Amino acid sequence: MNKTQLMVNKIKAGTALWQDFKVILNLDSKDLEVLFKLSQEITEKNFGNILKIYNPTNRFPAISITGNECALECEHCNKKYLKGMKQISKNKDLEQFLIELSRKDGVGALISGGSEIDGSVPLLKFLDTIKKVKKETNLIINTHTGLLNEETAMKLADAGVDIISFDINMDEQVIREIYHLDIELSEYKRAIDLLKKYELHIVPHICIGLYYGKLNKELESIRFIKETEINPSLIVVIVLIPPKDSKVKFETPKPENIAKIIAILRFAFPKTEISLGCMRPRGKIKNEIEKFAIKAGITRIEIPSKDTLKWLKNNNKKIQFKYFSACCAIPKKFEKLAESKKVDIKRYINI
Ligand code: SF4
Repeated sequence: MNKTQLMVNKIKAGTALWQDFKVILNLDSKDLEVLFKLSQEITEKNFGNILKIYNPTNRFPAISITGNECALECEHCNKKYLKGMKQISKNKDLEQFLIELSRKDGVGALISGGSEIDGSVPLLKFLDTIKKVKKETNLIINTHTGLLNEETAMKLADAGVDIISFDINMDEQVIREIYHLDIELSEYKRAIDLLKKYELHIVPHICIGLYYGKLNKELESIRFIKETEINPSLIVVIVLIPPKDSKVKFETPKPENIAKIIAILRFAFPKTEISLGCMRPRGKIKNEIEKFAIKAGITRIEIPSKDTLKWLKNNNKKIQFKYFSACCAIPKKFEKLAESKKVDIKRYINI
């Protein structure tokens, strides 16, 4: 029996260990199909033959509460993602914007922003406003908190924030060289413990390829999620987009490598949804990444291409699509609220 079949048997028997998952990282392309077959079987058994499709549209905008400012200027971002967000840095404006959003049939908002030097997003001073908005509207609030202190965790819970989108990274080189952060890995554990203490809904995000586009410590990040007992209902996978303006060279992460990480997630968390999130390379490679991610066992995807959905329909006649106008991290209980209107999905009609 070859080593791939041996591993498949171990996964099926529930006896695979972390060192077995490590073997997946070095498998050749020809051995991957066997793994994908298993990951699709597990996905279909636990989630049915459904792919959930998310598109935030203007019903779920992303807001930066620091404008264009960020103290870290990470290599992969260097503030460019902040520029694509609605910039609101005053409480009064945030309240007005969110109340207006709710009146105009908004579903929710992602509240994000640049980081402080300690890796936190300065949300604290906005949490009274968010609490007020949560009381007065049905908006779903998703936040990027970064590494946070106890007061912020307590007030996030008190404000009724629905989702904490939290980037997990267990790679010291990435922390220092890419994030420019001077912290210990244990800070992640401290932050997760605080989020758990205040019973916040954590949606871990793993960014594949942050180490100059190569796989490095993604497996350790997956293991961290398991060992800290977050027990997430969903894990979001995002993918490095190689920065053009960095002094250091970044590769584009290989679609096969992305799929290997997703397959490991599927095997390590068989009952957890997996989403291919919004940050990922576009252009020619986009469709390939999406197809590999579907083969490896995602259940959710943010703005897939039409070609990918056509390909999926051709290969899987019974697949059903469900459309939502929201961030891909929304919990299942909000799905009714976030359902897309016809006008939001017209690009996918006739697939
Ligand atoms: S990856 Fe999903 S949850 Fe995270 S910001 Fe993008 S759309 Fe929102």
